[in-house]
Amino acid sequence: MEIRKVLLTEDEMPRQWYNILADIKMNPPLGPDGKVISPDALSPVFPMNLIEQEVSSERWIDIPEEVLGVLNIWRPSPLVRALSLEKALGTPARIYFKNESLSPPGSHKPNTAVPQAYYNKVFGIRRLTTETGAGQWGSALAFACSQFGLECKVYMVRISFDQKPYRKSLMSVWGAKCVASPSMETRAGRDILEKTPDSPGSLGIAISEAIEEAVGDTTGQTRYALGSVLNHVMLHQTIIGLEAKKQMEKIGEYPDIVIGCAGGGSNFAGLAFPFVHDKINGKQLEIYPVEPTACPTLTRAPFAYDHGDCAGYTPLLAMHSLGHTFVPAPIHAGGLRYHGMAPTVSQLAAEGLIEAKAVSQLAAYQAGVLMARTEGIVPAPETNHALACVVDEAKKAKEEGKEKVILFNFSGHGMIDLVAYDKYFAGQLQDYVLSKEEECKFEECLKAYPKPQLLKSR
Ligand SMILES: *Cc1c(COP(=O)(O)O)cnc(C)c1O
Repeated sequence: MEIRKVLLTEDEMPRQWYNILADIKMNPPLGPDGKVISPDALSPVFPMNLIEQEVSSERWIDIPEEVLGVLNIWRPSPLVRALSLEKALGTPARIYFKNESLSPPGSHKPNTAVPQAYYNKVFGIRRLTTETGAGQWGSALAFACSQFGLECKVYMVRISFDQKPYRKSLMSVWGAKCVASPSMETRAGRDILEKTPDSPGSLGIAISEAIEEAVGDTTGQTRYALGSVLNHVMLHQTIIGLEAKKQMEKIGEYPDIVIGCAGGGSNFAGLAFPFVHDKINGKQLEIYPVEPTACPTLTRAPFAYDHGDCAGYTPLLAMHSLGHTFVPAPIHAGGLRYHGMAPTVSQLAAEGLIEAKAVSQLAAYQAGVLMARTEGIVPAPETNHALACVVDEAKKAKEEGKEKVILFNFSGHGMIDLVAYDKYFAGQLQDYVLSKEEECKFEECLKAYPKPQLLKSR
């Protein structure tokens, strides 16, 4: 019998996160005046201990005991060899994945929700606000807040709020309050509803609402939490890649190709950054973030300065961006419908350390169904995008007759996204490709802002 799972004991769980800021150069965030902002300027939005992490250039940062004591509800996560998928593809490639679907909310997101709730708690914060697309982040933060006794308020993108009721239910189970965005509860929401009463919402709009509410609490006891994009989020997710490295070492393997789907970039970064560290230090490997053709941030959008939200409340971040006013086509991978991309991931793409791929919605579901019918587990729609790329690479390895080692991130399960699979089988899903016309719109949206420098880390 061939080995299928590589497990770590709780003792072997990494005790530190890897901070990529120690190894790359970055364009700093800018304020509305175009000047570099001081970290203090973020203090109405985030607690100071997280802001310190956001700007830290320490390579290794200790994971607090209290955080490890919640992460070990489901961590270390298994490294699984996709033997049946390999067989179905007839590939000589060996395919491995980190199964991040085993957390209580079913995705990688609690890897950062837990430390974020913890750092807010020890800073004296009592309430967190956030946005959510398909609901994975909202439910992850609801879970984390329940572990540390914090209140939680979630602005959920309207279209998902209506289409995906079960993650709302999950949030209620963990004691959080969830409202549809745009809402009448904030000025940002009311402005949008006045112009577009039937707005389907977007992550950018929901972020504006959540920030507005956090900053508007005059008692100072509310802060905002973001589930992706920012440096400290990428940092917390690196536990995935650090575990994966240990697990591969145990069986004498090392990946030739590392793959993760990319919405804001966090599950990709979590798996990939520890391997990017190796690549910077001379290892040969390919690293692919995979995005939908409907929201092709890394593959089609410029590396530019832009806001993280729709109303322009956030500082300007140097990132690949489709423009903060961009509202992506209603694909079912809600977690990948974001106009921007983590500045760290964007920087790595800009300097060629990673190479982005885009896949269409139908190719993604086809790969996801193959995964479910071979390995048994049903992937989240987002994860299907990584899988489409895995399938492509495994087929390439077959054509070339090469025993490639492919490692990908199984970012979450699709048990609450089954309606999307029904629609796929009924032929109701379609491919979306960004038009040239839409491309002009984002050029227009971004032209007022300064341009980032092309920095090289090597
Ligand atoms: C949110 C989510 C994503 C996309 O977000 P990233 O920050 O890019 O990782 C991918 N997969 C799943 C299952 C998600 O919940």
